[in-house]
Amino acid sequence: MLRAVKFMLLATALLALAWWVGGLPGTVTAHAGPYAITTSTQAALLLLVLAAILLTVLLRVLGGIRRVPGQLGGWRAGKRAAAGEAATLRGLAALAAEDAQAAKAEAAKALKLLGETPLALMLSAESARLAGDAAQAKTAFEKLTRHQELKFLGHQGLLRQSLTAKDHETARQHAQAAEAAYPGSAWTRAQRLELALHGQDYAAALGLTRDKHEIAALATAAARNAANPSQALTFAKQAVKADPQLAPAVVALATSLRAVDKTRAAKKALYAGWQEAPHPLIAEAWFTPGATPLERAKDAPGLAAANPGHVESELVLARADLDAGLTGEAKRHAQAALDAGCTDGRAQAILDQLAGKPAQPSRFAWVCASCHHTQEDWAPVCPVCHKIGSLTWRAPGTALV
Ligand SMILES: [Zn+2]
Repeated sequence: MLRAVKFMLLATALLALAWWVGGLPGTVTAHAGPYAITTSTQAALLLLVLAAILLTVLLRVLGGIRRVPGQLGGWRAGKRAAAGEAATLRGLAALAAEDAQAAKAEAAKALKLLGETPLALMLSAESARLAGDAAQAKTAFEKLTRHQELKFLGHQGLLRQSLTAKDHETARQHAQAAEAAYPGSAWTRAQRLELALHGQDYAAALGLTRDKHEIAALATAAARNAANPSQALTFAKQAVKADPQLAPAVVALATSLRAVDKTRAAKKALYAGWQEAPHPLIAEAWFTPGATPLERAKDAPGLAAANPGHVESELVLARADLDAGLTGEAKRHAQAALDAGCTDGRAQAILDQLAGKPAQPSRFAWVCASCHHTQEDWAPVCPVCHKIGSLTWRAPGTALV
């Protein structure tokens, strides 16, 4: 409807214009040297319009001719980009197939055709790494770190290279940069955790795990390494909260409480630990340092009361009585330990000692739940398989205590 109205208006205007032109009176004369052309006003106007149309067409044609080289360049650039993209794809396939030489060749082509685009740089870095060309890989990874989108990949590559070169300080810096470039990545967290453990920075490692056993082990180690008693106390509390049954954590808590003169609180922590899971380490920490055997024999029942009748309670009583020369009591408690199910030889060793026979050494030790490595002292990390909090106190070859 609107279009029809517009058409009608235009037609009317044109008709009015033609009518007005048709009614114009007079003539137009053009002089050129000795020649003179005279024509009517209407014919002169028509010629003027025709000349304007011709000029417009001519200018358009000239403009088109001028744009041809640019269009040709654009077509060539498009062809280069397509060839570069194809080289990148072939390079990625070669990378996946672990064909280092082919990947490197395609990466070089991609770089030549596309320039240092993030994808071409990534291909160049990864193919150089696969081919064992550390210098080229490093250069490409460094360039990648300057690209906003693939910065993480750059730092990841440089971190791996630093680890291979055993340059842990540089690796730590790249781990931090990788975390900033891509926060919350599980891969970066695992790398940072490993680096913190390598540097025995247990406090830093603590912030990188959510596993309760790992927290307990790392906080215990952090408490042992703490710079001051109050810091040690904070870590020890965290350790016991995460795993109240971890004896080294309970002992670390008691030790740090004693360091800030909270002797009664220390005893309370050991008592609570004994209730949770009696352990010889807790028993050893229970006795006042430098106490005589008789004092220890008097002090032992206070701890045993936390878990009466338990094998460990009977054993701690038997051992304290034996050391104090209270042979009758020692024998009674050793027998009670045997009756309570002490099959690891410790109760028998006390009885043998009382009978004047050579005592068998204890078979208990800290065993890695992951790789079964066995060692005498507790450690936050298995020295063989590097698993955190995997050491459990048990007789080798037996089930968990
Ligand atoms: Zn292990």
